[in-house]
Amino acid sequence: MTKAKVYYTSARSVVWDVNYSLPYKYEELLARAGLEKYISSKGKVAVKIHFGSQGCFRTVRPVFVRKTVDAVKAAGGRPFVTDTTRIESLEYLEVAAYNGYTHLTCGAPVIVADGLFGKDAVTVKVPGAKHIQEIDVAGAIYHADAMVVLSHFKGHIQAGFGGAIKNMGMGGVSPHTHCGHNNRGRLHSVSATPPEWQKGKCTYCGRCEKVCPTKSITLKKNESVKVNKDLCWICGRCARICPEEALSMPITSERLAIHIAEASKAVISTFKPKKIIYVNFIMEVQPECDCMPVADTPVVQDQGILISDDLVAVDRASLDMVNRAKPLPQSRAEDNGLKEAGEVLSKVNKRDTNLTIEQAEKYGLGSSLYELIEIQSKSSAGKTEQHI
Ligand code: SF4
Ligand code: SF4
Repeated sequence: MTKAKVYYTSARSVVWDVNYSLPYKYEELLARAGLEKYISSKGKVAVKIHFGSQGCFRTVRPVFVRKTVDAVKAAGGRPFVTDTTRIESLEYLEVAAYNGYTHLTCGAPVIVADGLFGKDAVTVKVPGAKHIQEIDVAGAIYHADAMVVLSHFKGHIQAGFGGAIKNMGMGGVSPHTHCGHNNRGRLHSVSATPPEWQKGKCTYCGRCEKVCPTKSITLKKNESVKVNKDLCWICGRCARICPEEALSMPITSERLAIHIAEASKAVISTFKPKKIIYVNFIMEVQPECDCMPVADTPVVQDQGILISDDLVAVDRASLDMVNRAKPLPQSRAEDNGLKEAGEVLSKVNKRDTNLTIEQAEKYGLGSSLYELIEIQSKSSAGKTEQHI
């Protein structure tokens, strides 16, 4: 069976020559992966990132976004840097700027893909879907000619890990559409309804009220926690961070993986074949998602950058690499007593990290069989490639 090609460069730089630095090796990686093949002349190219959040700063570093934008321009494309609404859009653009993503730093406009009000989206059907038969894909992604998906590879409390698949399935759809139905909220729970509060479990710590991006939660000390159903985007953050499980949005890990795969399929279907390329940054691998209000210390050492046009292969190769890495001290890995390599993200989040990949493969989004091609330096430094 044909293996998908995954181009990789290590995060290590041991030669004192700029051609061996990670940003320059990344330039080579883009060239070797043949970025220009995916870009049409004057085509609008979405450079999809995650802006992060207030308090969560361990996102893809702006220097790599800039390198991507430069490469897209050199290939004749017209890039824009984008993410979908996670909090109110104007505020989210401020978060983007705090985390280093501006027109000046990225070299291209930085925009919210589903618009200023988070409602610019197009309904896309998912043939053969079990649960998400249709979903609203963010307008700027839907209409783009090509896309370069830059994903920070790290943990995730619900899915175990977040990489390219999740950046497509969750990150490519709008949370707050006009119809109020086909939005990201559908992916987070079985019922697609706002979280239920259980008074008996609540300690009135106030964390849910603070983390809510839409100010939907009103807490009255020792009395009640009320969720405004009209404002709630069903993002699930409050339920995820509640230490007492007093807010519930029921979903199994397997069901979540299916939802993400089906939504990813919808996003991919809006592009012609061979118009999307995926880049995973296995750096600052914090245990949780970049939309949480903090970023803990990394659980494994930086591994490097991987590129492929196969969505499943790039995540499989990234997860294998993290699984082989030794857990780091002074991190959530040490808190969990982990000392030896093996399934670190699975263990710190107590989730099966294979599920997302398995479901994405089942839905035909790519192959988990891959060939890793290591790039060791920028080509001007001489010999650059090794097959692993
Ligand atoms: S986070 Fe949980 S325990 Fe704390 S106030 Fe909210 S519902 Fe209650
Ligand atoms: S799910 Fe919770 S955190 Fe998210 S918008 Fe609704 S109330 Fe707020």
